Amino acid sequence: MKYANTVIDLVGNTPLVKLNSVTEGIQATVLAKIEYLNPGGSSKDRIATRIIDAAEREGKLKPGGTIVEPTSGNTGIGLALVAQQRGYRCVFVLPDKVGEDKRNVLTAYGAEIVVTPTSVAPEDPNSYYSVSDRLAREIPGAFKPNQYSNPNGPLSHYETTGPEIWADTEGKITHFVAGVGTGGTISGVGRYLKEVSGGGVTIIGADPEGSVYSGGTGRPYLVEGVGEDFWPEAYDASVVDEIIAASDAESFALTRRLAREEGLLVGGSSGLAVAAALKAAAKLGPDDVVVVLLPDGGRGYLGKIFNDKWMRSYGFADATDEATVGDILK
Ligand code: PMP
Repeated sequence: MKYANTVIDLVGNTPLVKLNSVTEGIQATVLAKIEYLNPGGSSKDRIATRIIDAAEREGKLKPGGTIVEPTSGNTGIGLALVAQQRGYRCVFVLPDKVGEDKRNVLTAYGAEIVVTPTSVAPEDPNSYYSVSDRLAREIPGAFKPNQYSNPNGPLSHYETTGPEIWADTEGKITHFVAGVGTGGTISGVGRYLKEVSGGGVTIIGADPEGSVYSGGTGRPYLVEGVGEDFWPEAYDASVVDEIIAASDAESFALTRRLAREEGLLVGGSSGLAVAAALKAAAKLGPDDVVVVLLPDGGRGYLGKIFNDKWMRSYGFADATDEATVGDILK
C-alpha cells in the first residue's frame, strides 16, 4: 500500500512546472517550483520540520513543551502542523493588523494566539517582540524557534529544496530565483546549488522595491513575506550573485497573470519572484534553465491581490475594468 505515515512525511518533493504564457518572447526555459503543494501550503513547512527536529535533538524542546514564536503566517502554520503531530503546544504572537482569516487558520490547526497592538514601539512591553520574549521566558518548557536567526531554516533548504531542484533539472539549471524574507530559502538553496555545480548556477534574490536587500531602508510595501528593514542572520549574502527589485504593481500584476494564464493561484511574493525571474530571463538564451520558487498559494490573498476594489484603492492598474456578465445584464 502506498501511503505516508503522517502528514509531515508529505513535506517537500514539490514539482516543477514550466511557465508558458507569462514568458512570451523569452528564449530561456523558466520552471516554477510549486511550494503551495506542501501540506501546510508553503515552503515554511520545510523549515518547521527541521527546526523542531533539531530542537528535540539538542534538548531545547522536551515532551509536552511549548513553541512560542512571533509569526502571523506560513511559519506558524508549518510549526503548528508539526507540533500537533508531536504533541507540543503552540503559542503565536500576532500584531492586530493580521486579518481574521489568518488567525483562524492558526487556531484551526490547534495553535493558541496572542494578539498585540501594532501601534506601539518595539521596546513597549505590549509590543509583538516584547510579548513573545516574555511568554518564551515565563511559559515552562517554552522554545522560541526564531526563524530570522535559526540556522536550521537555511539548512532545511540546503538539504531538501536545493537537491530536489538539482535532481529534477538533471543538473541543467543555470539560474535560481527566490524572494528574500528571512533569507533562509535563497541562502540554503543557493549554497547547495553553488556547491553541487561548482559555481555554475547564478543565484538571484527578488526583493520588493524599498527593502534593505535592494538598497532601501524598509519603506512600506504591500507584498507580504519578503523584504526586510534589517539584515537577518539567516541571510547569507555570499551566495547571492544579484538582487533584482520589483514594485508592488509589477508583483501583483504577475500574481494575477499566474492565476489566469498559468493556472497557478499563488501569493504576492510568488508574483515578485516571477517578476524578477522574467527580468533575468529576458537577457538569457535558449540553453538557459531558470528555476523560480513560488513560496505559497493565493487563497490567503483573495481579499487583497485578487480583489479589484482593493487593487484599485491602492491605484494598481491591473484591476480588471472589462465589462462583466453582471454589467451586461444590468
Ligand atoms: N514568501 C512568503 C509568502 C513567505 O512567507 C516567506 C517567508 N517569510 C518568503 C516568501 C521568503 O522566504 P525566506 O524567509 O526563506 O527568505
